[in-house]
Amino acid sequence: MSLYPQLESSLKHHFGYDTFRPGQREVITAALQNQDLLVVMPTGGGKSLCFQLPALMKSGVTIVVSPLIALMQDQVDALRRNGIAATFLNSSLSGEKVRSREQAVLAGKVKLLYVAPERLMSERFLPFLDLVHHHGGISAFAIDEAHCVSEWGHDFRPEYRQLSKLRGKYPQVPTWALTATATERVRTDIIQQLQLRQPSIHIASFNRPNLYYQVRPKTQYAYTELLELLRSTDGACIVYCLTRKQVDELTLKLKHNKISVLPYHAGLSDTERSQNQTSFIRDDVRVMVATIAFGMGIDKPDVRHVIHFNLPRNLESYYQESGRAGRDREPSRCTLFFGLSDIKTIEWSISQKTDPQEQMVARQQLRQVLDYAEGTSCRRTIQLGYFGERFPGNCGNCDNCRYPKPVQDWTTEAMKFLSCVARSQERFGMGHIIDILRGAKTEKIKQHKHDQLSTYGIGKDRKVDDWRLLGRSLLHQGLLEQSTDGYGVLKLNAQSWEVMRRQRQVLIAVPTVERVSNINPQEKSAEAEMLFQRLRTLRKQLADLQGVAPFVIFTDTTLKAMSQYRPQTRESFAKISGVGTHKLTEYGDVFIKEITAFCQEHNLPSVDMPSTPSSTSNRGKTPSGTELVTLNLYQQGLSIQDIAIKRNLSGRTIVNHLASLLEKNQELNINQIVAENKQQKIWQVLDTLGDVALTPIKDYLGADYSYDEILLVRGVWRRKKGN
Ligand code: ADP
Ligand code: ZN
Repeated sequence: MSLYPQLESSLKHHFGYDTFRPGQREVITAALQNQDLLVVMPTGGGKSLCFQLPALMKSGVTIVVSPLIALMQDQVDALRRNGIAATFLNSSLSGEKVRSREQAVLAGKVKLLYVAPERLMSERFLPFLDLVHHHGGISAFAIDEAHCVSEWGHDFRPEYRQLSKLRGKYPQVPTWALTATATERVRTDIIQQLQLRQPSIHIASFNRPNLYYQVRPKTQYAYTELLELLRSTDGACIVYCLTRKQVDELTLKLKHNKISVLPYHAGLSDTERSQNQTSFIRDDVRVMVATIAFGMGIDKPDVRHVIHFNLPRNLESYYQESGRAGRDREPSRCTLFFGLSDIKTIEWSISQKTDPQEQMVARQQLRQVLDYAEGTSCRRTIQLGYFGERFPGNCGNCDNCRYPKPVQDWTTEAMKFLSCVARSQERFGMGHIIDILRGAKTEKIKQHKHDQLSTYGIGKDRKVDDWRLLGRSLLHQGLLEQSTDGYGVLKLNAQSWEVMRRQRQVLIAVPTVERVSNINPQEKSAEAEMLFQRLRTLRKQLADLQGVAPFVIFTDTTLKAMSQYRPQTRESFAKISGVGTHKLTEYGDVFIKEITAFCQEHNLPSVDMPSTPSSTSNRGKTPSGTELVTLNLYQQGLSIQDIAIKRNLSGRTIVNHLASLLEKNQELNINQIVAENKQQKIWQVLDTLGDVALTPIKDYLGADYSYDEILLVRGVWRRKKGN
């Protein structure tokens, strides 16, 4: 039933992978049918492959528009490493080089041509494009980072607007737009600006299951904790700070503590910045301390930890910045240090804005960041909710899910706090209120005679941090208000009075600081770990010889598979995911040699690989991104057919998603689709025949039962039988 059954073997041949990621097959199928595309996938989702594989399978050359020179070079490097005919044209090349590359394109020797948008639309380039069009043909225009076309995105580039002209000039050439931007406004803009024609739209879930999210209070020990986090992370880390000054200071301190580290910010010279970036990408330095200027267009898939040492500007930036961790889908971490002083700084800078509209937006964004940082529910639910995606919670991979905070009754403390706000006439901020409660002897207290209030000194038994926690939590729970003028004056509301009258209980989730030693929970055998480190060293040597980044040779995931299965023949080596035909020839022998040497030294056999690397059993697995999108729509009450239309997928694909979701323990009600008596009957047949192919089950049940019905019930049945 699947179109293009040969896709998997092309994937293995060109890229070395055995299975498609969620959504990729659908996108590629649509691309091969010459449809326009809008592909929205989170960073690391595998967008590039969505245009690269069809480019290789179609005749003619695919023109790839990419906004950043660095990104272009990386992608072309990686493709050529796989023996793929890709090249780029940009301002970094000499005239001679440009001409020889153009010749190669005209001679039909190039399948993917990367260009910057300003070059593509230039007077000199357009005639060349015409030539290409009439010679070998243009198979498609792939517009990477397509959100750059939108003023609503975070990265608007006026040159991108010109791209719509291509539509007029080459109406029959399909346009494929790709982006990781999550907001609806930008997506609509992309479709309009690029004049996409009934595009096939694919929106993947923004969940990144391999990322572990945690928030740590930024106490006086924050630096020590940061140091420990960096020391206990095996692999590359990015530490984000707010200002250049902070970056420089932190870099110096970390250097002093023997961390392999470099700074990155807009204050450095161009050369220094690009040198530091290259050192990081090539694993010559392990930690990059940076302002948010770092990261855009950096295609390093094996960053293991992204640490925000300051609060991010808004949740979307946090998602994008933290999302630079673990693009290769290996377990990675995102840590946010949450300091109350950051709130003050941000509030102050908001109060400096002159445009009231901008101020309001910034306040709202701060509110959302605080909701995330102070929230006690699943971090994923909060983040994805921000993008309009419903996530059921209990992800098991964030601090709140793994280490739920104990809840305590702080009603009495809350009453003290709120009456102190009342007694001082609702005219002061949190710091002053806490001073009164703790009986401080400040000028301000003397001046306002607050040492004569009945609440003066009634909170000596608790620390300043406890009172802050309570104050923040009251704000958070809506039991107290705060002025938004930058002064943060505390005000009471109706709920506050209920608390003071003991009509309302106040529960506080008390943070327990997660120990740094919780890091690295994955178990790996000692041998696998040793071999992995050896292969990593070998990879680094080869990379240095060839002047490329190590991950371009093989990714960590591929090295891990090698250290797990220890293949010692070309045949078994070729089966490792990430080993394509070209890389087998190029690197097979030297890696096999290293593995064999290791096995001999340690007296180890190789390990049989599972025959199909993709999962035959879904039990205990988490749903994939595309399944979650379907789940989300289904739970909103859409029918299978509606979901299919909305997602531009077949009805059967949707049914397969639902069946798989059921199998993976997702709560779904299928009574609307399959009558209960039918469910019972199918169940009986499954019990009788066992988990056999669908056709015999269908034959047994007869024409009254559809494949869809059987698939869904089988999902539930498998789950029950699996437990
Ligand atoms: P994006 O452009 O969406 O950020 P990439 O296309 O760079 O993501 O893909 C991220 C990583 O995943 C790359 O290392 C890529 O080679 C890898 N990848 C893509 N598709 C697959 C697949 N089907 N199987 C395994 N790895 C894949
Ligand atoms: Zn969670």
